[in-house]
Amino acid sequence: MSRYEQEAELKDLRAAFAEYAAMHSHVLQDVLARLDRTYQAFFRQVQAGEQPGYPRFQGAQRYHSFTYKEYGNGAHLDNGFLVLSKIGRIAVRWSRPLVGTPKTVTISREAGGWYVCFSCADVPIEPLPRTGQDTGIDVGLKEFLVTADGTFVENPRHYRKAERQLKKAQRRVSRRKKGSKRRKKAVRLLAKRHQQVRRQRHDFHHKTVFSLVRQYDTIYLEDLRVRNLVRNHHLAKSISDAGWAAFRTTLEYKAACAGKRVVALDPKYTSQDCSGMLDDGQGGKTPCAERIQKSLSVRTHICPRCGLILDRDENAARNILRLGQSLRGAVA
Ligand SMILES: [Zn+2]
Repeated sequence: MSRYEQEAELKDLRAAFAEYAAMHSHVLQDVLARLDRTYQAFFRQVQAGEQPGYPRFQGAQRYHSFTYKEYGNGAHLDNGFLVLSKIGRIAVRWSRPLVGTPKTVTISREAGGWYVCFSCADVPIEPLPRTGQDTGIDVGLKEFLVTADGTFVENPRHYRKAERQLKKAQRRVSRRKKGSKRRKKAVRLLAKRHQQVRRQRHDFHHKTVFSLVRQYDTIYLEDLRVRNLVRNHHLAKSISDAGWAAFRTTLEYKAACAGKRVVALDPKYTSQDCSGMLDDGQGGKTPCAERIQKSLSVRTHICPRCGLILDRDENAARNILRLGQSLRGAVA
C-alpha cells in the first residue's frame, strides 16, 4: 500500500473521526511521509544484505514531534508569535534570528519542553577567510582528537561524569510503580539528565569544529568504520562516548557552510607507519615511512630508523595529512 493511497483515505477519516479532524491536514500527511521514509530505509537495508529491525509502531509515549510541511499553510509567524492551525497563537523564545525563507515547521517535545524548528531555504553561506593551511586529524582514545601539528583536544567525558547521575535517575524510575504519578515524575527527571548530556556534547562538538574550520582550509580524516569499532568491547565506551560519527557530520556540514573541505581517507597503516623525515644525502628530505607494528595499548611511536619519538595519534595525524596532500597532488 503506497503513501499516496493512504493519503487519499485521510479525507474520509477526517469526516468520520473527530480526533483526525482536530489536526491540520498537512500534519497528518507528514505522518504518512515519515512512515514511508522508514519503510524505504528498511527495504534499502534488506536489499543491501543488512539485518534491519522491522519498523515498529510508535505510541504516544514515543512519538515526539509533528510537522507542518508548508510554511504559510497551517503554520506561520505573526509578530514573533507562532500561529498554528487548530492549536493557536504561541509565544516563542527565540534562540537565534530566523534567516532565509522558512519552508517547513516542526514542533517537538523534549524533556518536558516544547521546541519549534524551522527548516529554511536560501540561507546565505558565510565563508570563512582562507588560511592556506591544511591538517590531518586522528581520533584519539585518550584525547578526543589530535591534529597533524600536535594540537591535542581533550575528551570532555561528559557522559561518564554525568553517568552516575543518569544511573541514579534510571534506578529511581525502575523502583517506582508502573503507571504511578511518582514514576512519571522520575521519568521526566531522567529525560532532563539525558538532555543535559546531549547538549553538553553538542556544544563541545560545535566549538571544536569551529576552531578547526577557522584554522584550516582542508581537513583530512580517517574513514573509520565507527560501527565496527564500537563492537570491540574495550573501546566501545570511549568511542561512543566521544560521539565521533556525530562529530564528523557536524564537521562536514560546517566546513561546507564555511567554504572549506573535509576529505575522508582509507586509514590503512596510518597508525603504523613512521611520519619522520630523513636526509636524502642531497640536502633534501625524504619520508622515513618505516612500518612499526604496534598494538592499541602502545601509546607512543618510536622509530629505530630515524629516531622519531612521537605520540601515537599525532604520528597518525601527520600521516593522514601527508597521504591527503599526496592524493590531492596526484589528482591535480
Ligand atoms: Zn622513522
